[in-house]
Amino acid sequence: MSRKAFLIGDPVAHSKSPLLHGLWLQELAIAGSYTAIAVKAPDLPRFFDRLREGEFVGGNVTIPHKEAALALCDAVDPAARTIGAVNTLVLQESRILGRNTDLVGFLHNLDEKAAGWDAGLETAIVLGAGGAARAVVAGLRERGVGTIAIFNRSLEKAQALVAGFGGDEVSAHPYAALADLAPAARLLVNTTAVGMGGSRFPHLPLDRLPADAVVTDIVYTPLVTPLLAEARDRGLHIVDGLGMLLYQAVPGFEAWFGKRPQVTGDLRDTVLAALEG
Ligand code: NAP
Repeated sequence: MSRKAFLIGDPVAHSKSPLLHGLWLQELAIAGSYTAIAVKAPDLPRFFDRLREGEFVGGNVTIPHKEAALALCDAVDPAARTIGAVNTLVLQESRILGRNTDLVGFLHNLDEKAAGWDAGLETAIVLGAGGAARAVVAGLRERGVGTIAIFNRSLEKAQALVAGFGGDEVSAHPYAALADLAPAARLLVNTTAVGMGGSRFPHLPLDRLPADAVVTDIVYTPLVTPLLAEARDRGLHIVDGLGMLLYQAVPGFEAWFGKRPQVTGDLRDTVLAALEG
């Protein structure tokens, strides 16, 4: 029987996830499908019922449903619980397991493109305090980063994120304090929407980062955001966000279709061409 998976969100038409999963299904010769379905917030519980009834093997959840979906799951994995959002649903014997794979996607991308980035890493800077920032912070904590400084336009939101994590490692700061903290940080991560469509931060003191710092942006349209371009011009090691998108998709595909797909250069090129097209 052909297994059916989905992406639900609102809107979903722009997503490249159907292309990505479609390529893997084809390559692995699996009789299955992965379809984007626009679901409005009030219709989310009914969609979960359809999943429980066996119409699908699982799927992905995107904006704006990642938090609401967590509450509708029958069980959630520890990463999703910490982050407070799910992006992957897996049907297991009529029960829906919610997972968050953004964390592993983020870490895997850095491991691949900046091997050794976490060795002895004491201080990291995270720009943004939204859903993606929570996944990034959880990932950095998992790797034992001692000081994680969050900078956000709305300081209250950064403080709420810090309170949610607890402990002493994570702290909230206004952008004005960035220049003071930058010299200690060997990793800077942009998790804000700034960079999308080529948009820019007013000014970031990248000149204050250590010469061996890694700068990564989880925004991947364009692939090289203005932040990454400036960091590259300053001789810093940069890592784009496309790998995070590709790697976060691997655990879901494996759970739904039973085979672990590969993230290859060809796959990256095909998805990139579609994004640029
Ligand atoms: P979100 O929850 O809506 O959070 C958005 C964040 O961006 C907030 O911290 C917000 O600050 C900040 N922001 C927005 N506009 C800003 C501006 N003009 N100046 C400064 N800060 C600004 O969104 P999210 O889910 O965290 O996603 C954030 C970005 O990550 C999106 O572009 C998304 O596409 C991308 N993403 C990529 C991947 C991947 O696989 N590569 C995965 C997940 C998300 P305030 O709180 O002050 O408003």
